Amino acid sequence: MMPADLTDSGAFGATLTIDLDALVSNWRLLGERAGTEAGTEAGAVVKADAYGIGIEPAVTALDKAGCRSFFVAHVSEAIRARKVAPDATIYVLNGLLPGAAETFAAHGLSPVLGSHEELLEWASFRQTGAQVRPAALHVDTAMNRLGLWPGEGLNLARERSGVIAAAGIGLVMSHFASSEDEADPANARQIAAFAEIAAALPDVPASLKNSSGHFLKGCPSYQLTRPGYALYGGNPTPGKPNPMRPVVGLEATIIQTREVEDGTQVGYNGRWTAKGRRRLATICLGYADGYPRNGSWTDSATGGSAMIGDVPCPFVGSVSMDLIIIDVTGAPQDAAKRGASVRLIGGPLDLETVGAGAKTIGYEILTNLGRRYHRRYIGG
Ligand SMILES: *Cc1c(COP(=O)(O)O)cnc(C)c1O
Repeated sequence: MMPADLTDSGAFGATLTIDLDALVSNWRLLGERAGTEAGTEAGAVVKADAYGIGIEPAVTALDKAGCRSFFVAHVSEAIRARKVAPDATIYVLNGLLPGAAETFAAHGLSPVLGSHEELLEWASFRQTGAQVRPAALHVDTAMNRLGLWPGEGLNLARERSGVIAAAGIGLVMSHFASSEDEADPANARQIAAFAEIAAALPDVPASLKNSSGHFLKGCPSYQLTRPGYALYGGNPTPGKPNPMRPVVGLEATIIQTREVEDGTQVGYNGRWTAKGRRRLATICLGYADGYPRNGSWTDSATGGSAMIGDVPCPFVGSVSMDLIIIDVTGAPQDAAKRGASVRLIGGPLDLETVGAGAKTIGYEILTNLGRRYHRRYIGG
């Protein structure tokens, strides 16, 4: 066992703090928004190791709080979730791969079926008398990624005794392509296309909202929602204040500091040149910990920063595999010395800011959170 308290964690060089109470409180907040009182249930998307925070602790905490429906991408993830949530419904978004039905049955998993072939394969597996849970039907209303065309879905829905009945469909769903952008006209088109499908299957519970969907005006909640990013503290309303509680904090330790003269080149291939005398510090994490190399400030590109107190300290030179060099010239000397702690995620360094510093999105920062950090779980 790794020691759980902060005094010991100094030895690990980088500590990821995961607040499971905040996770549960975010799930409750989204449920309230979706209308749990009116009978809508908030599910939880826990694919990609629960967006990097750890699938077992996340599912355990949410299951205990009353979450009944989980979504993952892969069967391997579903099997891990099943171990800690023996009774929940676990949907596998990537659907039914050829010959995989036995595995779904063995673990009581629900495939999200997105093509005629998948429907037929699942239906014929059910006809053998196999004990399975209800499956979901995925209709693609914009992404051109997975799911039946809306027209195809409508045709099948209208053949009452057809393949939809034979496949034992217990949920019909679609996924937004740009719900974080309220102004995108694609949202209204998707809402309308999905409404037609849901109306054609009046006895089947429906699900449309991802995180940002909860904040879209004019979007019905149906019976089940599928938030992911916002559960983990990501902002579902980019550009507006974040209604969610932060779940993830990341701190790293300074290994050594040095002063460099004007014109000194720093890091691999000398991609950053000091302008004037600078004080630098080297900290205990790098791209092998999921910290993107694209977050480096170079002579020609902007990048991300760490914080010491409220002083931003830019990543200078190339982010290396295990180390990042930061410019601590603006920070007080005694707060920027060997053994001192530097913040990488948390406070003003929210997921969106960190993502933007690395020319990516908060989702990618979360799902790449390193496997060798000292992980400290609180609450739950
Ligand atoms: C990942 C995913 C979600 C969750 O989306 P967020 O934007 O993270 O809330 C919901 N539904 C489907 C089909 C997904 O693939």
